[in-house]
Amino acid sequence: MAEPINAFQMAQSQFDHVAKLLNLDAQVSEILRWPMREYKFMIPVRMDNGSLRVFFGYRVQHNDARGPNKGGIRFHPSETLDTVRALAMWMTWKCAVADIPLGGGKGGVAVDPSTLSTPEQERLVRGWIDQIWRNIGPRQDVPAPDVGTNPRMMGWMMDEYSKLAGQYTPGVITGKPLGGGGSLGRTEATGFGVTYNVREAMKHLKMDPARCVAAIQGFGNVAQYAAIGFTELLGGKVACVSYWDRDDRASYTISHPKGINPRYLQSITDVYGTIDKKKASKEGYVVEEGDAWISKEADVLIPAALEGQVNAETVKKIHSRVRLMAEGANGPTTPEADEFFKSNNIFVVPDFLCNSGGVTVSYFESVQNDMNFYWTREEALQRLDTKITQAFNSVVAMAESEKVYTRDAAYMVAIDRVVKAMELRGWI
Ligand code: NAD
Repeated sequence: MAEPINAFQMAQSQFDHVAKLLNLDAQVSEILRWPMREYKFMIPVRMDNGSLRVFFGYRVQHNDARGPNKGGIRFHPSETLDTVRALAMWMTWKCAVADIPLGGGKGGVAVDPSTLSTPEQERLVRGWIDQIWRNIGPRQDVPAPDVGTNPRMMGWMMDEYSKLAGQYTPGVITGKPLGGGGSLGRTEATGFGVTYNVREAMKHLKMDPARCVAAIQGFGNVAQYAAIGFTELLGGKVACVSYWDRDDRASYTISHPKGINPRYLQSITDVYGTIDKKKASKEGYVVEEGDAWISKEADVLIPAALEGQVNAETVKKIHSRVRLMAEGANGPTTPEADEFFKSNNIFVVPDFLCNSGGVTVSYFESVQNDMNFYWTREEALQRLDTKITQAFNSVVAMAESEKVYTRDAAYMVAIDRVVKAMELRGWI
């Protein structure tokens, strides 16, 4: 049996496919297929019981032609240099399609943070900065939270960097807590960014949101605000959301005949996105085990949980009414499912366009840190709306002019912008 393809090989093959469509020069492609800089370092941490444990940390800077590298730090046991490389490359394309003046970066530590006490987490986080602080900074590379890391950790990282740099430097990291240099609007940014994309896609497809129904996978940060956005900002109905129940080790779909009330469900959901299904069923919600969300009669599907959820098997269950697929999660769709969408004329808003609201408001956070002047929530979200609308329109214009699938069009817009920046800087 063939070895499973790793994330970085997948990122490179996606790039190669679009490089061909763009007729990109082979030497330019070679530059873009690889990260410009990669760091792997050791972080020895004193544990609470007095023992010493060694962790390995990474930071990859894929391409900074358009501005400082940007991207989260993942704390996950299966983190490797290759997963970080892939994520860094995807960040380059995400920042470029969103047209924010940043490059792509990503970092990580191979660790399950839930196995560490809070003081151990703090020592690990500060140790990560101690090893890499010379190679990051507001003008070099600006990390952020990702899987397994959180705003509190970003606060510690900013503090450690500021101490080493000898000056308060909030712009070194985004995703900081409010009051500690964070931006208003960041919590809802990714889900509302999904909503603005859905609104623009519906305009394009001449669909009336008020008459449309959405089905959503997940009920974490992205899904909650995508559901709130779909109902409150667009006036549509959300038939269901779904979640992974950590106690039962099973997924559930929660629906309501009149449409769910996302604010109510949010009030009975924990920080991991697990809904209290007993409370929900007392309020008239229907609880079904499994991935029923994907087969609901809906106009719009919003996968906002994990990668690979819409695949050769699940795609067959999609209801014939579905016309729009808005990818809130990173990589929710496999290539087989993509073929289904193409042949059934389902409009796809690809992940790195659809969920670019998070990095866009992260960029706004560094802008506010630089100015030491903070915007209202409305200002942040209004600027986000403008950026997302422009990004969506540039992808649709590319798809129409080149007669390509929207995912390819998004890549083409992004790669084209990065190549132009490389040309303007005299790199190629
Ligand atoms: P989260 O951890 O807050 O929520 C994840 C949700 O998915 C939870 O409700 C969980 O129960 C649910 N889930 C997990 N497995 C499931 C399954 N098999 N079936 C149904 N539900 C399941 O995560 P998040 O921050 O909302 O991120 C979701 C996705 O969006 C990820 O792919 C993430 O990389 C991507 N993303 C997030 C952001 C952000 O700002 N949070 C930005 C860009 C992309």
